[in-house]
Amino acid sequence: MASEITDPYGRPWPREDVLANVGRGWHKLVSQLIDDLFEMGWNGELHQIKEKFGGLRFYIGGGSDEIHERIWVAENASFKICERCGEPGRATHEGWIRTLCEAHEVSERVRDFVQQEAHRKGPGVSSGDSHDPDAVVP
Ligand SMILES: [Zn+2]
Repeated sequence: MASEITDPYGRPWPREDVLANVGRGWHKLVSQLIDDLFEMGWNGELHQIKEKFGGLRFYIGGGSDEIHERIWVAENASFKICERCGEPGRATHEGWIRTLCEAHEVSERVRDFVQQEAHRKGPGVSSGDSHDPDAVVP
C-alpha cells in the first residue's frame, strides 16, 4: 500500500510541503484526508492542492469513487473551518473569499479597511470597526 505522496511526474512530495499550500488551520483536515486516502488504496499521486473561493481543492491523479467522495467530504468541511487557526469558521464574501472564524474575519476585515483607507485618504467610511488589527491577531 502506498504511503508516499508524489507529484504527477512520480517525484516525492513531502507531506509538509503539500500542507504548506493551504492555511495552517486546514493542516489537520488535509493530513487526516491523506491518511484516509492511503487506507482506501490511493496511489499517492497528487496534482494540486490549493484554496479556491474559500474552499479546499485537492486534485489527485486517479482513484475509486470512494476516494473521490472522501475528498469531496474534506473539501466541503473546509468551508466551515478557519484557514488561519482551525476554529469553526464561515466563508466571508467581502473582497477575496476566505473561510475564517469570527476573530480572524474581524481582524482581516480591519486590515483590508486600513489598507484601503491608507490608499484613498478620502473622507472616512464608517465600517463600525475601530479595533487595532494587531489586538485580534494571535
Ligand atoms: Zn481563526
